[in-house]
Formats: sequence, structure tokens, C-alpha cells
Amino acid sequence: MTEEILHNLFRIEIPLPGSPLKSLNSYVIKAPERNLIIDTGLNREECMKAMQTGLRELDVDLEKTDFFITHLHADHFGLVSRLVSDTSTIYFNRPDTEAMKTQGGWESMIGYAGMNGFPEHELRAALHSHPGYRYGSERVPEVSVLEDGDTISIGDYLFKCVQTPGHTRGHTCLYEAAKKILVCGDHILNDITPNIQCWSDQENPLKSYLASLDKVYGLEVDLALPGHRRLFRNYKERIKELQRHHQNRADEVLLILGKGSKHGFQVASEMTWDIECESWEQFPVAQKWFATGEAIAHLRYLEGKGMVFRVAGEKMITYSLNHD
Ligand SMILES: [Zn+2]
Repeated sequence: MTEEILHNLFRIEIPLPGSPLKSLNSYVIKAPERNLIIDTGLNREECMKAMQTGLRELDVDLEKTDFFITHLHADHFGLVSRLVSDTSTIYFNRPDTEAMKTQGGWESMIGYAGMNGFPEHELRAALHSHPGYRYGSERVPEVSVLEDGDTISIGDYLFKCVQTPGHTRGHTCLYEAAKKILVCGDHILNDITPNIQCWSDQENPLKSYLASLDKVYGLEVDLALPGHRRLFRNYKERIKELQRHHQNRADEVLLILGKGSKHGFQVASEMTWDIECESWEQFPVAQKWFATGEAIAHLRYLEGKGMVFRVAGEKMITYSLNHD
């Protein structure tokens, strides 16, 4: 399904079968010399078919097309290496490029999940059901790195890169100041809350994410073009909602730790989740994984603020409200 949003700017809806996200918004800007496709879908046939149908409808020639990918997650990046031609440039940010090239990324995530209490016997299943593992790009293609503030000029559009770390380390939005539009990837979504996960002690993604919300708050945006679900105009209001959401989540984590020290997996099992399952035990393993990553992000954020502490001498990373 394709739709013209603004003059020469189109959306192709790419299905994400089995995912609670439902679909990805791929944006296509047509211009006389080169076209630009922003985000692509998973590396799987359903996505490829929808993309090909959309591009045919829009009469887009891939030989004359470049790509911009907002972040490294497979539902955005996965399909791009099958769409590029010899003349295509893939614009991408530096932190996510480095993360993709790091060998053993999955293994270190698995190790960290185990240290945060994710049950040993479910770790492999979690990995094998992870969309990034199943439907990621077959290879890491050559990319052209764009830094914060760099611009891409395409037809009538002049996009400025606004790096918004949080959802991933290098997540980048595209801002068109004259048209007052922001292509926001998964930084700001309207119908769902962007997932913020932490899988390393080197990072504090929720802190970065909240700083990135502050960073884009002042932009004049009439229409936001998110990576999933509906486009929206209530830009500032939505940012405030997301800030409140994470504040509430952090409060919930503090309440849970008020009952005793716990590791990340236990905290996740006691948080409230918007998912149609009777109990935590019934959560699909992939959802347990995302929930645990999200719980750890909030724990690390509170730890950074000096509001929770690690219990010394525990085998697993265990958090408590009290300083030993
Ligand atoms: Zn996404």
C-alpha cells in the first residue's frame, strides 16, 4: 500500500508478520536525479514483496535510488542490502555502524541477560526468536557515514540529521525545517511506546533517550513521520507523554524494589505490560527478552541517578533500594 504524504514524498507500508509493531513505514522521496528510501523492512519475503509492489506503483528505479536508515534494528535495516544497486549509497550513523561490525554482539547480549537473571534454558530460544537474529541483513553493506547536523538534499527536500541516541546508540532522525516535518524512526512513535533496552553496563540508554527527547522538543514540527503506525501532529504533547511514561515506569521499578532486592528479569516479571497474556509465564520468550531489556534500562537509569544500588557479593546483578 502506497500513499502520497507530501509532494513527492510517499509512504509504503511494509508488513511485519507476527510482530506487535504490525508494519514498518518506509518513506520514499522521488526526485529527478536520485530517489531516497528511508528504512526498508526485515530481510524476509513478505517485506520484499510489499517493497517491490510499492516501488513499482511509484515507478521508482532502484538504479537511481539511495537509502537512509534511521537505526540498525532489523525491521529498518534488514532488507536494504537486497535493494541496493551498484550506484546506491546507504547513509547511516557512526555508532550503529560500529555496533553492527562488532563481532560477538549477540553473545555478549546473551551473557549480560544471563547475569541479569534471564533463565539459562530460555536464553538460546530468546536469541533464535529475536527478529534481529532471524531477519537481519545477510551482510553488513558499505555505508556512507553521516554525523549529527549533516544534511541530505533530495529534490525539494533538505534534510538535516538529528542524532537521537536511546532506542539505539546512533539512532538518527531527519528534520526538514522549511516543511516542518520530522522523520523520527523509532525515536517517537504515536500509537506505541518506543522500546528502550539496555544490554551492557557501558550504557545508560534511558538517560540518553530522555536527553534525546529534550533535544528534539524545540523543533518546529507540523507533521511527524514515525517508523511504525500512524503519522501524527501532536508532536510536543507526544514527547511529554513519553517523558511521563518513563517517569511512571521508573516509579514502578522503585515500588517493586521496595519489596526486596531483585535482578532485572524478576523486576520485568513484576512490571505491568500491555500484552495479551494472563501471566508472565505465558509471555512468548521474545517478549520476555524485550521486557527484561526494558527493565534493565530503567534499573540502570535509576542506578545512574543514585536511587538504586547493586547488592555486593551476589552472583547475578541484583538491585536494591539500599546502599550496603
Ligand atoms: Zn522499528
